[in-house]
Amino acid sequence: MAGVGLRRGIKKNRSYTYDEAARVLGTHKNTIRGWVRSEGLPALTGERPHLIVGEDLTAFLKSRSAKRKTSLTATQAYCFKCRAPREPALGMADLIITEGAAPNLCALCPTCGGTMHRRISRAMIGKLHGKLDLTVRQAPESL
Ligand SMILES: [Zn+2]
Repeated sequence: MAGVGLRRGIKKNRSYTYDEAARVLGTHKNTIRGWVRSEGLPALTGERPHLIVGEDLTAFLKSRSAKRKTSLTATQAYCFKCRAPREPALGMADLIITEGAAPNLCALCPTCGGTMHRRISRAMIGKLHGKLDLTVRQAPESL
């Protein structure tokens, strides 16, 4: 079920539950949940079940594959709204530390004001100190 062309199965004007989106994409619903939680996939979370608009999902998948080809400098993160790498606004970023997972760099896009996320290795944290104004936070235990 994986591969090129799956996006065609997504209808722009339809809303998908995480389950449905996972089925269309041939992935697990936890993957979808992870995209919403930490990779900036927009979701309508006001009511249950949470819904993802097809158009948002398509845009997310496009920028996600673009991201793979884009190399970021140490301090940049990828903005899904601008679909471009950006330096964090005001040189400020939150570093969210999760037990057993890669740290998540969270910053605001200087161009559109959207939230940018980037998974980084622990080794990279040292390189960021002095270049970015980092606020280190422990992730709330939500799982
Ligand atoms: Zn942006």
